[in-house]
Amino acid sequence: MSDLICPHCTKEAPHGAKVCQGCQAEIHYGEPPRILMLLLRIVSVVLAIVLAINFSSDIWYMGVIVAVGGYFAGRALLRVKYADEIDFLRIYKTK
Ligand SMILES: [Zn+2]
Repeated sequence: MSDLICPHCTKEAPHGAKVCQGCQAEIHYGEPPRILMLLLRIVSVVLAIVLAINFSSDIWYMGVIVAVGGYFAGRALLRVKYADEIDFLRIYKTK
């Protein structure tokens, strides 16, 4: 695997490194964007409520099961989709 280039300081970092040697940016591998994970959670909750309302009262929990299943399926898909994504997260600390 080739070296990574830090977008903040353009220093090379070996693949597998956790922190950039140049600017201490944290290097994250294969994580879907947080906004997408949050969106997935919101959609799952809304789906659970909508399905629970629309199913008849004795099988309302089936809607929740479908929504939870959808959540885990969506999360697995996002993980696979972003497995090759590498993020350099630079945290600006005030001293
Ligand atoms: Zn850097």
